[in-house]
Amino acid sequence: MSARVLACGVLVWTVVLLVGCATWGAQRGSRAAPAEQHTPHATVLLSLDGFRADYLARPSAVRLRALAARGVRAERLVPAFPSKTFPNHYTLVSGLHPEHHGIVANTMRDARIGTTFTIGDTNVARDPRWWGGEPIWNTAERQGMRTAGFFWPGSDYAINGRFPTYYRPYDGRVPNTQRVQQVLEWLALPPERAPRFIAMYVSTTDDVGHSYGPSAPQVDSAIAHVDSLVGALVDGLATRGLSGQVNLVIVSDHGMTEIDSTRVVRLDEYVSLDDMEVVDWMPVAAITPAPGRLADVYRALQRVPHVQVFLKDSVPARYRYRAHPRITPIVLLADEGWTISSTERLQRLGMPRGGTHGYDNFLPSMGALFVAAGPDIQLGRVIGPVANVHVYPLLARLLGITPAPNDGSPDSLAILRR
Ligand SMILES: [Zn+2]
Repeated sequence: MSARVLACGVLVWTVVLLVGCATWGAQRGSRAAPAEQHTPHATVLLSLDGFRADYLARPSAVRLRALAARGVRAERLVPAFPSKTFPNHYTLVSGLHPEHHGIVANTMRDARIGTTFTIGDTNVARDPRWWGGEPIWNTAERQGMRTAGFFWPGSDYAINGRFPTYYRPYDGRVPNTQRVQQVLEWLALPPERAPRFIAMYVSTTDDVGHSYGPSAPQVDSAIAHVDSLVGALVDGLATRGLSGQVNLVIVSDHGMTEIDSTRVVRLDEYVSLDDMEVVDWMPVAAITPAPGRLADVYRALQRVPHVQVFLKDSVPARYRYRAHPRITPIVLLADEGWTISSTERLQRLGMPRGGTHGYDNFLPSMGALFVAAGPDIQLGRVIGPVANVHVYPLLARLLGITPAPNDGSPDSLAILRR
């Protein structure tokens, strides 16, 4: 997510203050009484970007472990492929694999739209044509329920022509404590104004994991910070008498693994980069060969060590990564910890260090967090690894709404009481 943070300059900050605050807290349109026949409870979905599943066992994850002990945790949440931020945040809230929702990478091209999507270019990313499927806030709003989004990727874009009732344009500099405070204030609104679903996003563990690698002591500090946010949320609910009214579902989008300067492949040592366009580089290189060059480029790339090379139609079925036109004709996947680059890129960007993600989504190091607790969640259960497409139907069931068509199954994450 660092690119999103970097994308925000002073000018953007000023615009956010002037324009964003007008949006902030605005309730667009009045609604009849929400569909609350099913349950009066609200649900907060919190993403701790890049919080690897085993971070839960690190010493500083005190409040998260306490929450898991009185709820349900998964050994790990298996991200969708590729194990990147935007594809997975949108899978979590749509229940669709990236090949079905269309956010197939953090960087991708669409000939029909005629632009390149990057997570830092909000002017391009906000184009609703990139976003297929239906996010849970739209599923709920469509059924008469108020929702809120605090920086969840996509929650400030007009997907399906809709927004959450309450949302805010992304600005990574808004302190995390302020985000928690706002969520608590939303939940404490009078019933006729309070959102029943809130999606909230925090980037700290991802930012620090990229900079230092997942084993670094700085990551323990980052875990302590996000753990304190969870504590503030839990304590804030208790202070407001809302502990029995709110379900908490805390997830992450992917894990993190070490990278270093000794594990690098330079594509230009095996193939002429003039023969292809590399739309995205790491750890999944998305390659579109020049016209008539597919067979030659594919043959050349098969000589590259420490990567797997797939023609689009032969990407292994378990990755669920074939169907969308934005997936390039050749997909190159680095082995865990390896970096795909070029001589020019390494000179320009420097050698890899710290940590990254995006590798095979079934690797334990790519495993994400899943902890849920609240009045509708079972007590003290640990479940096995579960794919994150199943979070959307779980949320729909918690909210008592009818899910849109999706790739998940409510039976795969059957953790509700009753
Ligand atoms: Zn991420």
